[in-house]
Amino acid sequence: AQEIGRDLGRLVSVQRALRLEREAVGELRALDDYKGRLIATVAHELKTPIAIIRANLDLTSELVADDAHAAPSLDAMGRGVDRIARIVDDLLLLAAASDPRLPARQPVDMAPYVVSGVQLAAESAARPEVLDVRTDLPDAPVVVPADPQGLERIVVNLVGNALKYSPAGGTVVVSLRDRGDHAELIVTDEGIGISAADQERIFTEFFRSADPVARRQPGTGLGLAIVDRIVAHHGGRIDVESEVGRGSTFRVFLPAF
Ligand code: ADP
Repeated sequence: AQEIGRDLGRLVSVQRALRLEREAVGELRALDDYKGRLIATVAHELKTPIAIIRANLDLTSELVADDAHAAPSLDAMGRGVDRIARIVDDLLLLAAASDPRLPARQPVDMAPYVVSGVQLAAESAARPEVLDVRTDLPDAPVVVPADPQGLERIVVNLVGNALKYSPAGGTVVVSLRDRGDHAELIVTDEGIGISAADQERIFTEFFRSADPVARRQPGTGLGLAIVDRIVAHHGGRIDVESEVGRGSTFRVFLPAF
């Protein structure tokens, strides 16, 4: 009877520990949810004033076009406001990608979104002409339950990075493969590569490599965090393989059903 009593006592304390843990997890989730909503609200509120500053800077530049002293300072302000705008846009994308309620997934062929994602990335790249981007798609559709905008964003961010972190003359290959129970999207570049230590951290919000070559490129450190969230929302996984000075390969696996 004594032994049973001891066992019961242990059971009660384990149950209590489990309950406390569940409560703590619940509180952390609620805090994380609050953080997401706070970021989204602030970012959203910043959009209009940023647009006003940008428009007035353009106007002022025209008004003082003859003033050689004003131009450098207006350019500096323009670069600053563009950087803020990029951070705000990425924060909104991160908040959207982290929202567990949205968006619903539907069966879609990934190929058209790979094509449009590559196009969008090339359009916003600083020097798309110096790199060769090849797209390798299968003839048959690759259907997965997905949010089409999310798919496109994955491609835009991965290809955008491949273009940003590659010296002139390199090739970027974007391939799509149907692996039966999952789809595989592969983005390979011949760029500057990512050190083993950095590979562990690149999917973390705001992480940017300390490598001065990488630092030359503008960025928010949010692009891969956004990709990671979207992939997680699809029940998928993302991997990176890279060698400094040789290039990088990002692989996204998305379950087919
Ligand atoms: P950002 O590019 O805005 O800094 P990301 O989250 O997209 O932010 O990427 C995080 C970091 O990972 C980058 O700062 C860069 O150091 C590294 N990185 C990402 N993609 C590549 C790539 N294709 N080649 C080399 N480095 C990369």
